[in-house]
Parts: sequence; structure tokens; C-alpha cells
Amino acid sequence: MKNIVILGSTGSIGKNTLEVARNLKDKFRVIGLSSNSRWELLSDQIEEFKPTYIALNDSKLVEKIKGRFPNNNVKVITGSNCLEEIVQKKEVDIVVSAVVGAVGLPAAIATLQQGKILALANKESLVMAGHIVMSLAKKNQILPVDSEHSAIFQSLQSGKPGEIKRVIITASGGPFYDYPREKLCDVSPAQALKHPTWQMGQKITIDSATLMNKALEIIEAKWLFDLKIEQIDVVIHPQSIIHSMVEFCDGSVIAQMGMPDMKVPIQYALTYPERKALSVKSFDLSSIGNLTFKKPDMEKFPALKLGYQAAREGGTIGAILNAANEVAVQAFLDGHIRFTEIVSYVEKMVNDHHFIKNPCLEDVLAADIWARQEIKNALFKRIN
Ligand code: NDP
Ligand code: MG
Repeated sequence: MKNIVILGSTGSIGKNTLEVARNLKDKFRVIGLSSNSRWELLSDQIEEFKPTYIALNDSKLVEKIKGRFPNNNVKVITGSNCLEEIVQKKEVDIVVSAVVGAVGLPAAIATLQQGKILALANKESLVMAGHIVMSLAKKNQILPVDSEHSAIFQSLQSGKPGEIKRVIITASGGPFYDYPREKLCDVSPAQALKHPTWQMGQKITIDSATLMNKALEIIEAKWLFDLKIEQIDVVIHPQSIIHSMVEFCDGSVIAQMGMPDMKVPIQYALTYPERKALSVKSFDLSSIGNLTFKKPDMEKFPALKLGYQAAREGGTIGAILNAANEVAVQAFLDGHIRFTEIVSYVEKMVNDHHFIKNPCLEDVLAADIWARQEIKNALFKRIN
């Protein structure tokens, strides 16, 4: 029996993780849950899973939860360090990091420092500080949840690290891959939130539409699998059936396939190195019909260029790119900027920032604060 904590249990990955845990009750005990604002859903989860701990940074919401469970003895951890605190509880074996954004970084670091398994969906922590996160991780202490990286992780089991020629990360292309380039500036948040193959949280759905998600995944792959930039390719594959591939030095290409369902990589991260039964939509290639592939269009989707730049140059670029993107995506969702301006703002912040080649954690966090402030200043001038 393994004890798991889910950071961000009320989100898309969090809910899928609870579904996996519900089906594997004899293997996993959910001992910790966390959310940001959706306290009613968190309350339902507390009722069902009876965790020992919950982490919630808003003390007003804590009162609401206590009001709903006057006799429940769940221990509430609150305050801005609540995620770091919950992962450090001694009973915890596995931490599923399913929060969105930079808030995941300190908790990822604390998890690794405590020697616990990190099932990582929060790619932002690797994008910001991959060099720090990976330096703390022992072999297989980080298990990827992101479907592409799970696919690569699974495919890599067919060979040794020295035998890898390259990885090929697949991308659905999002809702606008074939949309006329000149019309991209007019797409609305509602259009951008309609992803063709995956149901996800708002931020990653917008990232998928700009292809910034793929940029983040290039950086994530570099750190997780210790790859050179020349070893990371991206191919557009609209059906999202092949989740990614590894080409080995003898020309063999190993792919991991399946119907798009995040429960598959989540469960694999939890049960690794074993596999357990999971009820998923049946895999029927004849009904899928065609699997198609295209070269990515870096001019139409310049986020990809930024992803390669951040992966190549490293330093503080990842932290700047991530923070600027978080703010720009929110500004787009709030109707303040156009779709195409998301990546333009990110690019400007990357170009304008004071680059540090080997940043320590404080440098990374300072870069994150700088980028958020700088882009907010730029947006404020624009809006007012
Ligand atoms: P969601 O927006 O659906 O969920 C985010 C979760 O994080 C929610 O539980 C939310 O709480 C919580 N949260 C948000 N902000 C904070 C904060 N400041 N402090 C503490 N908790 C916070 O996101 P997803 O589940 O889609 O994505 C989560 C992560 O997984 C992201 O890093 C994403 O890139 C990655 N990922 C997601 C995939 C997917 O299919 N969704 C696929 C691959 C990777 P509340 O509900 O209260 O707002
Ligand atoms: Mg992915």
C-alpha cells in the first residue's frame, strides 16, 4: 500500500488521478489533497477519500470546509508554503504534482529532497529550474505524467541511454493548426479553449493552441531524459494516437500508442514498474482510419522557436518564458490581448531580461517575479 498526496486534486489531472486511485484502492491510499479555490469540490473529495491532510492557502476557504465537516479530523495545512509542507509529511510515499504554473516548483524540490517519488504533471517546474530539479532527483525518482514524456519513458525501456538517437515528440497542433495565419489574431478565448483531442485545464489548453505547450515539453524532455537539442524533434500528429517516439541508433523507432486518455500515463507513473488493468476506450485502428503527420510550422507558431531557444541557452530563459506566458495567457483569457500577442509578449520578455547562465534557485525565483511585473507593466500601459 502506497500513500499518495495529490497537489491540485480539483484540476483536470487531479480528478483523473483520483479516478485511478479509486480503481486501485488496494494499492493506493490518498492521504493528502490540495486545491486553490474550488473548495466545494475539494469537500466532496474529502468526503470520499478521507485524507489525513489537506493543503489550502486561503484561510477563508478553510473555514468553509470546516463548516461542512464539523466533526472531521482532517488536518488542514494553510498558508503560502502549504504545498511544501504537505509533501514533507512522513507518511507520504508518492506526490502527484498536478498544480498549474510556477507554484509547483518549491513543492517539487521539497518532494525530491525528502526522497519521495514525484509523479510530475507540472512541467512548469522543469521549465523554470530543470537544472536544479534534476540535480536533486535519483534515477526514476521523477516519473513523467505528461503523456508525451510518459510515452518516451516507456519507449526508452527498449534500449540504453547511449543508444538513443533522438526523441520525436508528437503534437496535436491544437485547434488552429490549419487555420489561416492572418486570422489567428482574431480568435477568441472560447475558440482557443476548444481542444480537438484532449480535455484539460484552461491554461494548458491555451498553451496547446499557441503551441507553447510543445515548447514547454521540449524543455521538459531535455531535462527529464538528458538530451541534446539536436535529439529533440517535434511532429504534428492531429489524431493524438501516437503519444511520442524514440529513435535508437540502429534505426528502430519505438512508439507508445493508445487512445488519448490521461489516466493511462497517470496510472503508469503510479504503478511503475508494474502495469495494472485500466478500463480505457478500445484501441481500434480501423475506426481511427488514418494516422497523419506534418512538419511543425515555426513561422505560424513561433512559440516553438522560443522553446528550442530556451532549451539550447538554458539559464534564466525558462523561468522568464514560463512566467511571461502564465501572465499573457491570463491576459488573453481576460480579453486584454489578442491570441497572437501571447507569444509576442513572451518573446519580448525573453529578449529584454537580464540573462544569468547558471542561476541558483533565488535567481530563478527573482527572474519569475521580474517577468511577471514587467509584462504586467507593459499590459497596464497598453490597457490604460
Ligand atoms: P487545472 O487548471 O485543471 O488544475 C490546476 C490545479 O491546480 C487545480 O486543482 C487548482 O485548484 C490548483 N491550483 C491552481 N493555482 C494554484 C495555486 N496558486 N496554488 C495552489 N493550487 C493551485 O490544470 P490541469 O490539471 O490541466 O494541469 C495541471 C498541470 O498538469 C499543468 O502543469 C499542466 O501543464 C500539466 N498537464 C496537464 C495535462 C492535462 O491533460 N490536463 C496533460 C499534461 C500535463 P482550483 O481547482 O481550486 O483552482
Ligand atoms: Mg503533453
